[in-house]
Amino acid sequence: MESRPLVVVGAGISGTAAAIQAAEVGVSVSLIDENPIPNGMVGMNVPHFFGQSLPPGNESASIETFIPTTVALAEAEELGVDVRLGTCVWGTFRNRENSRLLDGPQVGLADTERSWMMNYERLIIATGARDLSIGFVGWDLAGVMGANGAHSLMNRSANLASRRMVLLGSGNLGLKTAKMALENGIEVVAVVDVSPTVQGDAALVEALRTEGVELFTSHTVKEAAGKNGCIESVVLVGIDDDGEPVAGTEKMVSADIVCLAIGLVPNVELLSLLDCELTFKSEIGGYVPRHDDRMRTSVDDVLVAGDAAGFHDGMIIDPDIARNQGRLAGIAASASLGAIGPTEAEDLMSEIRSEILSQAGAKPTEVHTGWKRWLGSFVKAGGQDVLACPCEGVTRAEIIGLQPPRYLEWGSEQMNRRSLQTQVEDNPANPNQIKRLTRAGTGICQGRRCREQAALLLAEEANTPISEIPLMTYRPPVRPLPLSIMWPDDESEQVRTEWPKWFSPNNKVLG
Ligand SMILES: Cc1cc2nc3c(=O)[nH]c(=O)nc-3n(C[C@H](O)[C@H](O)[C@H](O)COP(=O)(O)OP(=O)(O)OC[C@H]3O[C@@H](n4cnc5c(N)ncnc54)[C@H](O)[C@@H]3O)c2cc1C
Repeated sequence: MESRPLVVVGAGISGTAAAIQAAEVGVSVSLIDENPIPNGMVGMNVPHFFGQSLPPGNESASIETFIPTTVALAEAEELGVDVRLGTCVWGTFRNRENSRLLDGPQVGLADTERSWMMNYERLIIATGARDLSIGFVGWDLAGVMGANGAHSLMNRSANLASRRMVLLGSGNLGLKTAKMALENGIEVVAVVDVSPTVQGDAALVEALRTEGVELFTSHTVKEAAGKNGCIESVVLVGIDDDGEPVAGTEKMVSADIVCLAIGLVPNVELLSLLDCELTFKSEIGGYVPRHDDRMRTSVDDVLVAGDAAGFHDGMIIDPDIARNQGRLAGIAASASLGAIGPTEAEDLMSEIRSEILSQAGAKPTEVHTGWKRWLGSFVKAGGQDVLACPCEGVTRAEIIGLQPPRYLEWGSEQMNRRSLQTQVEDNPANPNQIKRLTRAGTGICQGRRCREQAALLLAEEANTPISEIPLMTYRPPVRPLPLSIMWPDDESEQVRTEWPKWFSPNNKVLG
């Protein structure tokens, strides 16, 4: 089994900074990143919400374009960091009650050919954030994607084929994505926000207005439509203070892409698997790991950095916060491994902390009221018969009605009486019940597109603050892996022969 004193997951700004900082003081580091992402994964909307309108591409082209866009990676490699690209971390494990025989803390790794385990002494999770997705009528058409997906395709693999973009969200995330789209030759036909005022940086707004971009505040999407499964037009509609569509305000715009830039959610799945304490902080994206001023989580030997520790819109303007958090985590991990003395480490860290304080900018404000407003406006403009979990084909109405997946063709009067309302009368509100009873969240995107929608719907039905809705649990593997990669051995001839027995109507075990 492989083993490394320090493993860093995520070679973005924060993870690379952490790895460099540790390598500089002589720590042996592995820096792991799933980028460039195989086309198959991109097609499954993993890890970002890429949508279905990717141009034909090839992975080697992505590798060629990926490394030069991440300048710091070259520096890390020069310092001797063991950089593993195209390698995902699908699980994190440590010794606990039910895993006492485990040979120390480990991460599960996989590339397109194999899966293996790596031991670590210290682990830094720098996995960034993912797109918040909330569905409107037509959001399952090719051409709908998230800001992170679009950013990744424009910057890292330079293969976002689109001509006319409608952008949802006027925070810095939306404004910056719009600016980036313009720089990539994409026309931005509308920036839309449910709020009555533009949310982001005034200078960015001015820059977009100068380029002729129209901003639609107090508006939402009524529907996106098109032929052959691809978006061709989007109907926008004005909304009042309650999110109700205002008659006579509909406007159809022609577009081939709708980019959801309404929020980012910290990627905490690997931290959750390790039972790192997560607390709900709406202002930085929801559930985030508790950490101290050295970026150490509640679990010994596990640190966090960057957007995974909490995303706020100001970070889009100043990504140096993520870089500095990475440096802090790198120093803290190195000091705990004995590679740097405590006084020197503390001096370096206090310098970085003051830099972070000076970069902090405006205090972030809570985001879930805005997320709720987007969901409410989509419901009022387009109804509840909209897919919430595209992987498993579960609509919002089916989540509210706690209905079993349609493909089971399993209905009954008793089932029809079931709903989130009846469920919360008997049990504390928990999205795991939604997962178990409807299968929303169990598909190949691993719930990345439905988790927040399910939590918001549950909070609404249970009349409970969103902060009191627990996190839907994560289970390894957190990336969709073929069984042949998880375990390369094939079944024996005897097992293969006996398989059909399990599905026989006379099977005594299954009944
Ligand atoms: C629209 C937009 C514009 C931006 N503009 C800028 C800009 O101008 N300048 C700038 O510096 N930054 C920019 N950013 C980045 C932004 O500022 C982020 O705050 C910053 O990237 C955070 O860095 P990070 O290291 O925390 O996360 P990220 O940069 O997101 O890196 C996380 C990495 O972890 C990897 N990862 C996640 N999970 C796994 C796993 N299980 N296994 C393996 N790998 C995994 C991901 O592939 C990713 O590479 C922009 C982002 C967006 C969305």
